Amino acid sequence: MNIFINKHHVLVLSLLLIGAVVSCNSVSRQRREKSYAGHTMGTTFSIKLVETGSYYESHPALLDSIHAILERVNQQMSTYIDSSEISRFNDFKADQWMSVSEDFASVVHTALRISRQSEGAFDVTVNPLVNLWGFGSGNSIRTVPLQQAIDSALTFVGYENCRVRFNPPALKKTVAGLQCDLGAIAKGYAVDKVSEFLERTGTENHLVEIGGEIRARGKNENHVNWRIGIQSPDGGNRVQKIISLENIAIATSGDYRNYFEENGVRYSHTIDPRTGRPIQHKLAAVTVLHDSCTVADAYATALDVMGPEDGYDLAVKENLPVLLLIKSKDGFVEKMTPEFEMYMKK
Ligand code: AMP
Ligand code: MG
Repeated sequence: MNIFINKHHVLVLSLLLIGAVVSCNSVSRQRREKSYAGHTMGTTFSIKLVETGSYYESHPALLDSIHAILERVNQQMSTYIDSSEISRFNDFKADQWMSVSEDFASVVHTALRISRQSEGAFDVTVNPLVNLWGFGSGNSIRTVPLQQAIDSALTFVGYENCRVRFNPPALKKTVAGLQCDLGAIAKGYAVDKVSEFLERTGTENHLVEIGGEIRARGKNENHVNWRIGIQSPDGGNRVQKIISLENIAIATSGDYRNYFEENGVRYSHTIDPRTGRPIQHKLAAVTVLHDSCTVADAYATALDVMGPEDGYDLAVKENLPVLLLIKSKDGFVEKMTPEFEMYMKK
């Protein structure tokens, strides 16, 4: 968890995430802010809504609808559910189209686009490596594997061997044993889905967060932009930077979020498919702003794999507002793309 939500001052988000709660925070000039929190996708989620009228009284099923959206995304994209679309595709034979939902096809389509753009630093077919290193559903033993096992897993990895089509939506693998992993993009996608649902139901002012990926819409109960703090990657609760969010999504990836250590070396859940090994560079965290949380989430992982130089170059080329936190002797150095600097000055 790396994001803090700010109301009047910076509030540590994890304090809000105790079970599934519904609370009415305050009444301020007719605008009430409500918080919802719970667990999904192996992590926590939190939602803040601002309403002006008696909307909630007439929509008691709002929370049920949100849970149904999250459940649907899990049934599409979770490798921890045997019957999910992704698990069925991962078990599916090569060279034949498998029918999938349009949502699933569109997320894989976006993941393939970013796989190509990052020249395979982001790779939607990374699942055999994620499992091998103990970060996936197929293996929870976290230890450095033999080079032979890495080489063997690498033979199944390669986004160019995964195809997607629409009308009707379907996926195909051209190499037997190819397996997709949407862990780098599915949380952002679920955030977008919940946020779009809230917009459709007339809740224009809200903030949706899943596992640190956020989409903010409208204003908070005090009629100002939502503000969040980006946590320092030092593992503590220090805030590195506060950002004011105006109708935008934000996603962060970093080697400090999920890792194990062996012989004094940190092995992160972010794997470089070009070596088959967890990233080992000085980039501690990448934060990406984008209209779409799906895209922000995928880019954050892609740039994280690419590292401080190549990642920065791709972010500049794609005009992305990006903040890189790079490890140095005395902490972290901030490197911002011109678009991020412009965003901060707004
Ligand atoms: P995130 O926290 O969004 O950066 O996503 C991390 C997750 O993405 C990991 O737990 C893996 O499931 C998956 N992943 C790891 N390495 C890659 C990669 N190179 N390309 C795409 N997904 C990856
Ligand atoms: Mg990501």
